[in-house]
Amino acid sequence: MEKKCIGIDIGGTTVKVGIFELDGTLLKKWEVPTRKEEGGVSILPDVAESIRKVLKEENIELADVVGAGMGIPGPVLENGYVEVCVNLGWRDMNPQEILSGLLDGMPIRSGNDANVAALGEMWQGGGKGYSDIVMVTLGTGVGGGVILNQKIISGKHGLAGEIGHIRIREGEKEHCNCKGRGCVEQVASATGIAREARRAMAAKTDESMLRQFGDVVTAKDVLDCAKAGDALALEVMDTVSYYLGWALAMVSMTVDPELFVIGGGVSKAGTFLTDLIQKYYEEFTPISENKAGIALATLGNDAGIYGAARLILD
Ligand code: ZN
Repeated sequence: MEKKCIGIDIGGTTVKVGIFELDGTLLKKWEVPTRKEEGGVSILPDVAESIRKVLKEENIELADVVGAGMGIPGPVLENGYVEVCVNLGWRDMNPQEILSGLLDGMPIRSGNDANVAALGEMWQGGGKGYSDIVMVTLGTGVGGGVILNQKIISGKHGLAGEIGHIRIREGEKEHCNCKGRGCVEQVASATGIAREARRAMAAKTDESMLRQFGDVVTAKDVLDCAKAGDALALEVMDTVSYYLGWALAMVSMTVDPELFVIGGGVSKAGTFLTDLIQKYYEEFTPISENKAGIALATLGNDAGIYGAARLILD
């Protein structure tokens, strides 16, 4: 039988699992609820049991699986060690060793979920065909992943790719989740865009479509109104794009990837969003025409399982 590989994306609510051909074709995917009680002790046994069950249903022998990769929502050391993973309740453990033990010694590799998702987009998504990409995920927060020469760059301290916490804006009074002030995440995440809109509405008296949403305005509302030509919404997105374009320019001058891949819920706004970012990115990188372009992610919530599966193929 043709060999297979498995990708596992461990999230706070569900664990996504996918079985892949070695060429990246997804054969089957499913989800397992994440049981976080008692320090998350049940999570890996649940995943192992579920994998055994599905492999049996699919008539795939455990021996025909070359290995599994795993994305974990927190910092992961090179050897797979996790000091603390707040979202899962894990502390002082090596999840990849544990899972390997539960699956008859199957090779398992793990990495931070944002980095793993970036690897997935490089392999089969918006960055397919490229070997050097930086992914920026605009969701509730802003995540990032740096892939150079088809390898995740996580840095000596696991901080590489933390684009959301680059300090970019002077004068910000509120604190970011990282305790900093003025982070990219504070202006360009879905949460940040909504806050920016609330501030714009409070600071001005202009008529705007945004006002119908009041304080519960969402990033999607802002983008929809901006697309419809609403001046205040466009002003908000101009601010967001200015800071994002600036952040990408800094990353470009630091690692010079081939491509930026923009993902996360906010990226559903499509090329409308990337065109806005591109305008400032170009303005802030006059040094050369030959530099990273900006593309959209294509794998959505599956990026994690793709990247995890790719992780074990190295
Ligand atoms: Zn921050």
